[in-house]
Amino acid sequence: MSDSHIAETAEAPASQALFDRAKAIVPGGVNSPVRAFRAVGGTPRFMVRGEGPWMWDADGRRYVDLVCSWGPLLLGHAHPEVVAAVQAAAAKGTSFGTPTPGEVELAEEMVARTGVGAIRLVNSGTEATMSAIRLARGFTGRSKIVKFAGCYHGHVDALLAAAGSGVATLALPDSPGVTGASAAETIVVPYNDIEAVEAAFTKNPDIAAIITEAAPGNMGVIAPKSGFNRKLAEIARKNGALLIVDEVMTGFRLSRNGWTGLDPVDADLFTYGKVMGGGLPAAAFGGRADVMAKLAPAGPVYQAGTLSGNPLACAAGLTTLRLADDKLYEKLDATAATIGGLATEALSDAGVPHRLSTAGSMFSIFFTDAEVTDYASAKTQDGDAFKAFFHEMLALGVYLPPSAFESWFVSGAIDDEALEIIAAALPRAARAAAASRRG
Ligand SMILES: *Cc1c(COP(=O)(O)O)cnc(C)c1O
Repeated sequence: MSDSHIAETAEAPASQALFDRAKAIVPGGVNSPVRAFRAVGGTPRFMVRGEGPWMWDADGRRYVDLVCSWGPLLLGHAHPEVVAAVQAAAAKGTSFGTPTPGEVELAEEMVARTGVGAIRLVNSGTEATMSAIRLARGFTGRSKIVKFAGCYHGHVDALLAAAGSGVATLALPDSPGVTGASAAETIVVPYNDIEAVEAAFTKNPDIAAIITEAAPGNMGVIAPKSGFNRKLAEIARKNGALLIVDEVMTGFRLSRNGWTGLDPVDADLFTYGKVMGGGLPAAAFGGRADVMAKLAPAGPVYQAGTLSGNPLACAAGLTTLRLADDKLYEKLDATAATIGGLATEALSDAGVPHRLSTAGSMFSIFFTDAEVTDYASAKTQDGDAFKAFFHEMLALGVYLPPSAFESWFVSGAIDDEALEIIAAALPRAARAAAASRRG
């Protein structure tokens, strides 16, 4: 272990003690891989409290949060109205295993924002994409799926090939435990490459669906080239396949609708998660009414969930969406532009090669000279420069995603004090990144 690891450990004794206890009984000490700080080293911070733009770790240190639970916390931590809605729902009973009014209200709000014909609520983004794929296969009677390298759609077997997020962060090969039969049904093509998609269809008559992130955020943020998603819809339609647009990360974050609100696409199915649960577990898939009508009990494609449409999650999600008005989205865009601009300026001043890559109010900084349009170019990043940059930001009280392959997320709670802390930290972190390159 390097000296910097020792310094890191010494800095967070309470987190380290918790991490040691966790590691004794939880694989890697975490319940989702990127949380373990493997890509950046050091002690993962165990958070004990959040309020607005801030969160506090077990050692009592405060951070400006630019991860926002990986997207869900559109309004920041513990928004008083969201907390009150969850408390009120909990006091009336936490789960019934029957239909409840809250799930109808949440689905109505989502349909009003997205225009999808029908929607089914589930508990995680993984479940949403898994179910959407089963539905696409059941609807078309075909088996193969086209996915893009570097896109992440949860840990669904068939979708773990060349996946982004933690798979990219840890530079893992495709996961053991995914059967050859399952992997063989997945055709992986480079992102932003229409010719590769067309070639996949020429070679394979049996394609049920193309699945794509609405705007990828799991290999770092990479916006689709102009017209890319619409072209995918056209290719799918021409070939009798469905287009599944995964808005789990982008949905209700980038606009009242999602990335699709900024870059409309006539997809057959959409998947949602993260923001729609307001920090509680909720996700969904929806789309064309005739396709959704194939779902049980209306149709033969089975899909179910003991806690689906949970009243607490629906209350948190609905309250979050009702507070997410045009003014909030304007603020998120402005905040993201401010932080992105400050970061670019700091890195330019320090002479660190970088690319600011944005999709609406989601953005990331690639530590590379190369233009980033797909997974291969995203991987040209200088991991050591990111590591040094990340740790300096952390030490100065700004919590960034502990991976160069993730988006930075802003919340509506970011205020002037939080922005000042970010602005003061960035030049120092940029100089640390520059020093790591020289060292
Ligand atoms: C987070 C994410 C998922 C998986 O959602 P989970 O709730 O973590 O299962 C799927 N697709 C995209 C685009 C995501 O960002």
